[in-house]
Amino acid sequence: MKKVVIVGGGASGVIASIFASKNNEVIILERNSNPLKKLLLTGNGKCNYFNDNQDISNYNSSNIELIEQIVTKNNLNSVLDFFDRIGIVPKIKNGYYYPYSNLSNSIKEALLKEANLCGVKIKTDYLVEDIKRINNKFIINNELECDYLILSTGSKACPKTGSDGIGYDILKKLGHKIIKVSPALTQVIGNESYFKDWAGIRAETKVSLYENDKYVTEQIGEVQFTKNGLSGICIFNLSGKIRQGLDNNNKEDIIINFLPFVMDIEEYLNERNKRVKNRTIIELLEGLINYKLVKIILKKSNISENKYYNELTREQKINLYNNLVSFKVNIIDTNDFDSAQTCSGGVSLEEINLNTMESKLIDGLFITGELLDIDGLCGGYNLTIAWISGILAGNYIGELC
Ligand SMILES: Cc1cc2nc3c(=O)[nH]c(=O)nc-3n(C[C@H](O)[C@H](O)[C@H](O)COP(=O)(O)OP(=O)(O)OC[C@H]3O[C@@H](n4cnc5c(N)ncnc54)[C@H](O)[C@@H]3O)c2cc1C
Repeated sequence: MKKVVIVGGGASGVIASIFASKNNEVIILERNSNPLKKLLLTGNGKCNYFNDNQDISNYNSSNIELIEQIVTKNNLNSVLDFFDRIGIVPKIKNGYYYPYSNLSNSIKEALLKEANLCGVKIKTDYLVEDIKRINNKFIINNELECDYLILSTGSKACPKTGSDGIGYDILKKLGHKIIKVSPALTQVIGNESYFKDWAGIRAETKVSLYENDKYVTEQIGEVQFTKNGLSGICIFNLSGKIRQGLDNNNKEDIIINFLPFVMDIEEYLNERNKRVKNRTIIELLEGLINYKLVKIILKKSNISENKYYNELTREQKINLYNNLVSFKVNIIDTNDFDSAQTCSGGVSLEEINLNTMESKLIDGLFITGELLDIDGLCGGYNLTIAWISGILAGNYIGELC
């Protein structure tokens, strides 16, 4: 019987422990007084743990081509089979998986019960600060010893849950290359005087990211307008790319289309003005968009609110069309690690055997979850990577002995 130590009792560490426990003695070392602290926060307490749409475009990495080797049909099926086996019934909304109870705690309890049934020990309030490789053994904090080590300490995102990036330092000392780690899935920040007027508004929009005035990507969904800038799931999904762009001194702009269902804005407003008669411009637009946004759009278009559509100059009309469907917000920053849900960057995938998650540099060392240079969009993708990498590492070790 070999001894396996898992550093970090988060999503990927706990699932790895269950698979590794076959024929092995497994212990999880967790710095918090309870494992799975971050899991409880996921999906606003409901835990969006999987998604049917597993297109690779939902993931980011410096080695994007390697993700196809991890997000395979087999691996995805192993995740679903596992949750079925431990009694989680999914509630599936548009392909997004939540436990039927709508409680992340159900996933936490089911994982811990299974780990307990498999004989996994969990040592809490134990901070791992040092790992050495001596004579084919791993020595932890100069006091514990094991044959196989799975490092599952998470990224730098949301450090109040225990993941403060210490895993990267440990891996650097062991010789691994860490691709620059930056916050992702977070709010973006600008510096416009009108932000105070739109704070608190939510609107269904299409948002497009432009880097140095070149189109990068787009998202459709609800945007939350804040006193500092923009938030909401579709903004979160752009934030990792924006952070990386800003770090490389690129100009980052978000272009908001407030009327994504309109094909030709000029034709649409001309027709609306004919049909909805005797309205000033603000009255004409109010039924479409939050009036606070209308006021900002009119101000930006140099149009006074009591004018009628027919009274606008050609230049004012063009400004209005542009600001309704291509409202530009320059982004100067993103929120930091404290409020990020995940991180871009991490351990280079080139240094990992992607069938087993074993380090190519150090035999017997396995790396899982957010420590890896993969991050996903909102929608269950980050947990999917935690589950798959944990299963691959645990299963390989479990089958070895
Ligand atoms: C608010 C929020 C909402 C989220 N919602 C979703 C969602 O709905 N769907 C989704 O897919 N993803 C979501 N995520 C992301 C998801 O939670 C993470 O991707 C996932 O938890 C990563 O798992 P992990 O095992 O890599 O790390 P973590 O879950 O962060 O676990 C790491 C563990 O290691 C421990 N640890 C760290 N260092 C040490 C050390 N030196 N010694 C001992 N223990 C240590 C930590 O205390 C922690 O328990 C969300 C994240 C946040 C913050």
